[in-house]
Amino acid sequence: MNEQYQHKARKRFGQNFLHDAGVIDKILRSIRAKPDDRLLEIGPGQGALTAGLLNSGARLDVIELDKDLVPILNHQFGGKPNFSLHQGDALKFDFNSLDAAPGSLRVVGNLPYNISTPLIFHLLANAALIHDMHFMLQKEVVERLAAGPGGGDWGRLSIMVQYHCRVEHLFNVGPGAFNPPPKVDSAIVRLVPHATLPHPAKDHRVLERVVREAFNQRRKTLRNTLKLLLSADEITAAGVDGGLRPEQLDLAAFVRLADKLSEKPIPA
Ligand code: SAM
Repeated sequence: MNEQYQHKARKRFGQNFLHDAGVIDKILRSIRAKPDDRLLEIGPGQGALTAGLLNSGARLDVIELDKDLVPILNHQFGGKPNFSLHQGDALKFDFNSLDAAPGSLRVVGNLPYNISTPLIFHLLANAALIHDMHFMLQKEVVERLAAGPGGGDWGRLSIMVQYHCRVEHLFNVGPGAFNPPPKVDSAIVRLVPHATLPHPAKDHRVLERVVREAFNQRRKTLRNTLKLLLSADEITAAGVDGGLRPEQLDLAAFVRLADKLSEKPIPA
């Protein structure tokens, strides 16, 4: 990089820059961007993934919070007609402002770990715009996203993300691929919003509430954790054994509980 554009990684922005060309190539091959794609990169940093994404010929918007990276990104990519830079916080970004067709946005990001969960929820609120998402996340978070019922990884994050998306844990990446190296292992995950929800709830906010309540005390039985929302009889009427613990229930069972709650007047 040009001397004038030296940048020191900032911890508060979760900056761990990818420098391993093999890993960068593997990520780009998993995404397989095509010229007609509408790409959105969150946190381009110094452009490790950005260059390859732009080379596909696709239109690419990037959102970067760190003002000091703006000249570095503009110096490298500002002259490219398919590149647009938005300086700001991706958590507050209005994805509708991109004017992308429904189901077209392909979102990519080596995400800062401190914002990964709220950012995924912010993106899921705009799932109708999105074609797919490829993220580098903490490996432990990817394991929770991809988990199935019955184990300790299955929880609020797995259920709410799998409600909206198919999840694929693609591959793991060790700390040495980054500069500076993070303290934890990372992994690449692909999230693909369902064209039709496999288990639609009457109201997804009610589903969120039931799941949050159930996992607040994951060692207790559903009869216990949900008692302020549903009686033992109502849980049984939803086709669920109230003696089970929340981690033993699949998504469909949580949706049945949520729909049972949706039938009732909202508790105070
Ligand atoms: N994509 C680059 C790479 O792979 O080398 C950088 C990855 S680094 C882990 C995360 C990037 O996200 C940093 O450039 C950081 O400044 C940026 N960032 C942090 N918080 C952000 C936010 N709320 N919105 C947008 N970008 C953010």
